[in-house]
Amino acid sequence: MQTEIVYSKIFDKHTYIEHPENAERTKVMLEELRRQPFFKKLVFKEPMLLPENILYSVHSDAMIQEVKRLSETGNGWIDADTYVCKDDYITARLAAGGLLQLCRDVLHGDADNGVALIRPPGHHATKYRSMGFCLFNNAAISAHVLMEQGNRVLIFDHDVHHGNGTQDIFYDNDKVLYQSFHLSPHYPGTGSIDEIGLDKGEGYTVNAPLPHGSGENTINRLLEEIFLPIAEEFKPDIVIVSSGFDSHHLDPLGGLKLSANFYGELIKKFQKIQTKIVCTLEGGYNLNWIGKCLASIVGQLCSTPIYIEDTVKEYNHAEDVVNSLNNKMKNYWNI
Ligand SMILES: [Zn+2]
Repeated sequence: MQTEIVYSKIFDKHTYIEHPENAERTKVMLEELRRQPFFKKLVFKEPMLLPENILYSVHSDAMIQEVKRLSETGNGWIDADTYVCKDDYITARLAAGGLLQLCRDVLHGDADNGVALIRPPGHHATKYRSMGFCLFNNAAISAHVLMEQGNRVLIFDHDVHHGNGTQDIFYDNDKVLYQSFHLSPHYPGTGSIDEIGLDKGEGYTVNAPLPHGSGENTINRLLEEIFLPIAEEFKPDIVIVSSGFDSHHLDPLGGLKLSANFYGELIKKFQKIQTKIVCTLEGGYNLNWIGKCLASIVGQLCSTPIYIEDTVKEYNHAEDVVNSLNNKMKNYWNI
C-alpha cells in the first residue's frame, strides 16, 4: 500500500496564534506521525497550485475577489471567526490544489490512498461565502472536478460541525453524495435530518445531527444501518473524508464522544465500500490529541493499524436520530 501525504510549510503562513485554527495544529500532527512505526512508509508530496478557473467553477466571483483583496495586505477578517493572512490567495489555492492532486494520484493508481494535511480548512465555505475558519471549500472543489470527469464521489464528514458549505455546493446533485454526523445544536446551525437535497439531488444529502454526549455506539449503528448501505448502493469511485478531529471527546470546541482509535475504525468501515480513500483536514483543536487521531487514520490507510490508550463512554444513545434518519432515507435507498 502506498499512502501519500500532501503537505507544505507554506500552509504555516496562514496562522493567527490567538485563534484555535493556527499553524500549531499541523506541527503537532506531523510530530506525531514521525513517532509512528509506519512513518517511513509514507510518501510526502508538495501541493500544486489550484488554477483560478477551477476555483471559479465552485465559488462566486465576489467571494474569490474578497479573499484576494484581503490577502494582499493580510490581517483581515471575512467574519468574526475567519481571518485572512498575507498571500492567503496563494496559500488557500495550494490547499485546494493539494487535495485535488492527491485525489488524481489515487484515482490514477499512483497512490493507494492518502491524507491532505492542508490548511486553511474548507467544509464551511459555501458557493458565495467564506466562513467558519474556511476560505475555499477544498473537498467540494476536488469533488466537483472529479464529478465533471465522470466520477461518482462520496464525501463523508466526521467533523463535529456540519459541513454546510459542502452540502450547499452539491445540494441538487446526484453525482456527489454527502454524509455527515455532527453535534446539534452547534455551529453553524444547519444539518437537520430534513435537509436531504433538492430536485435530482434529493436523497443525496444525509445528515445525522447528534445530541451532546453521543459517541461510538450511536455512530456505529448509524454507519451500519444507514451510511454504509447507502454508500454501497451509490458505488463511489472515490471517497473524500472531511477529517475533523473536533469530534474527539476532549476537543475544546466539541461535545461528541469519539476516542482517537475510532477515527481509524471509521476508515476501516469505508474501505469495505471503496479502498480509494483520501482524507482532508478540517477541524480539531486539542493539540494533545489531534496528532493521535490523525495517526489512527494514517495507520489504517497504510495497513499498519495502531492502538492508542484512550477510552471514553458516551452518555447519549440518540436512538431517535438513527430511527428518524432511517425512516427518511428509506424513501430513497434500499436500507
Ligand atoms: Zn469543526
